[in-house]
Amino acid sequence: MTQQTPDQYRVFGNPIEHSRSPDIHHIFALKSQQHINYQKQLVDIDGFSNAVTDFIHQDGKGANVTVPFKEQALALSDELTERASLAGAVNTLTFKEGKIFGDNTDGEGLVQDLITNNVSLKNSRILLLGAGGAARGVLLPLLAHMPHSIVIANRTVSKADKLCQHFADIRLSASGYQDLEQQSFDVIINATSASLSGNLPPIPTSIIRQNVVCYDMVYGKNETPFLQWAKEHGAIKVIDGLGMLVGQAAVSFEVWRGVTPEVQPVIDKLRAALT
Ligand code: NDP
Repeated sequence: MTQQTPDQYRVFGNPIEHSRSPDIHHIFALKSQQHINYQKQLVDIDGFSNAVTDFIHQDGKGANVTVPFKEQALALSDELTERASLAGAVNTLTFKEGKIFGDNTDGEGLVQDLITNNVSLKNSRILLLGAGGAARGVLLPLLAHMPHSIVIANRTVSKADKLCQHFADIRLSASGYQDLEQQSFDVIINATSASLSGNLPPIPTSIIRQNVVCYDMVYGKNETPFLQWAKEHGAIKVIDGLGMLVGQAAVSFEVWRGVTPEVQPVIDKLRAALT
């Protein structure tokens, strides 16, 4: 019996060497008996559109897109999901019926990870630190889970203001870090890139009250500066962004294959391999 050629998927980025997406998707595929091949591809800074076209000609079925091409992927898409359109970025492309469909699964990956960790979002007061692409991408999925409010705090307050205007939802408000002093939150999500350079956003310690859960989108072998700080000041639970990474991949896999993969064994495996 001849073996069928596996369906082809890619992740496009620059840099791309660090990407764990091929490992994650191959484990999902193995566990759910899906016949796929998923490779990472380094793309020249000005070569994204050509890379996508070439891959479509090679009968590629879909692709993930990472830094710095997520906005270009949005522009290249013929049709967008609402979450991709509001996020202003696409991380998941599907090629079918001669069209390019753009989606953004980052926010759903975060929300799924919060739910897996028993963090209740309904009626919660959420503080979102940062107003870059990652913050923008998670707002719609967070709002869909009916929080009481989301305060977006950013160093450059005008960017947080812009996000509030863009989403036009009365549960959203913008703030500078210094104005957080007297406020109280149930969930604090660090969507800044401060942890990548070993820094902490300038948050007042008074916002860490009993029962607050702190989440950092960054992850690593060691706890991030934000999560260390939160723990030291009494946060009830701290969670890093590894589950979000695997979660967004799981939602992409579901978009492409119609199968919901199990995330926990993959998170455990990646965690054990973190260096
Ligand atoms: P952007 O460059 O778009 O935004 C960076 C944000 O961080 C801005 O709000 C910026 O503030 C803020 N910032 C940077 N340094 C500091 C600092 N020292 N103190 C306070 N604020 C700071 O990045 P993204 O939004 O794309 O990504 C943010 C983080 O999320 C990254 O670390 C990324 O790795 C992570 N991420 C993780 C994912 C996962 O799956 N786990 C998925 C997506 C992102 P200002 O506007 O004032 O400059």
